[in-house]
Amino acid sequence: MQPIISVNNITKTFNTDGRLESLTVLNNMNVDIQENEFVCIVGPSGCGKSTLLRLIAGLEAPTEGDVLYRGENLTKPRKEIGMVFQNYSLMPWLNVEDNIAMGLNFKRVSKTEKKKTVDEFLKIIGLENFRKSYPHELSGGMQQRVAIARTLANSPDVVLMDEPFGALDAYTRILLQKELLRIWEYDKKTIIFVTHSVDEAIYLADRIILMSGRNGGINREVSVDMPRIRDRADSRYAKLTQELLEELEQLNNIM
Ligand code: ADP
Ligand code: MG
Repeated sequence: MQPIISVNNITKTFNTDGRLESLTVLNNMNVDIQENEFVCIVGPSGCGKSTLLRLIAGLEAPTEGDVLYRGENLTKPRKEIGMVFQNYSLMPWLNVEDNIAMGLNFKRVSKTEKKKTVDEFLKIIGLENFRKSYPHELSGGMQQRVAIARTLANSPDVVLMDEPFGALDAYTRILLQKELLRIWEYDKKTIIFVTHSVDEAIYLADRIILMSGRNGGINREVSVDMPRIRDRADSRYAKLTQELLEELEQLNNIM
């Protein structure tokens, strides 16, 4: 089957004035993502995870190689690929329903249809009673729910998430992981999810890609074939956590 996203022999080099040498972040990297797959990308800070997502979002161009969406070269952002950032990035002057509707304003969608979509997502994220609230009136977890709903309301095929739960407290984080899986089961998208957390990756992913800062690419790929909702008390969970943590420690040591 044709992958929905193909990263083909990507190299990304940054030339910055402040540095004497250019910095190669990704070096000849290859990844294929299949439709409806939930892929987590884990790796040490600075290894190029956000850079990879920005390339797939079409926000940045590779130095060499190409990124394909359903076989087509990706050279700029497109509506089929949505992104959720760590810091929620809601519009502070818009209330919850207007934030969710924001992306729809760029599309030719009737008022009735827009309201229907907004209502549907308010229900999915459980914030029906907060539709008129402004971002500053919401907790971090609620804001991130709204940001996820805003991205999904645009009905992208591929959702890119860059450490979306990184700023949340541990309890809310676990809650939102579960919620994200529920939304994904209901409305299967392809998700590429960047995280620092091995535990989060094992909880969420079909497949985990470990990136290393050293060779600028994938270090290891692991399929997680435990049924969802995954049980953190399962011995396989603990074993896989241990394995991946050891691998990451090695990656950190050689950086
Ligand atoms: P990660 O998300 O894995 O922490 P990033 O992809 O943000 O890593 O960054 C990888 C490396 O590339 C870092 O050393 C960072 O400083 C550098 N980098 C990222 N974006 C730029 C840029 N626009 N210009 C120069 N260097 C950059
Ligand atoms: Mg990053």
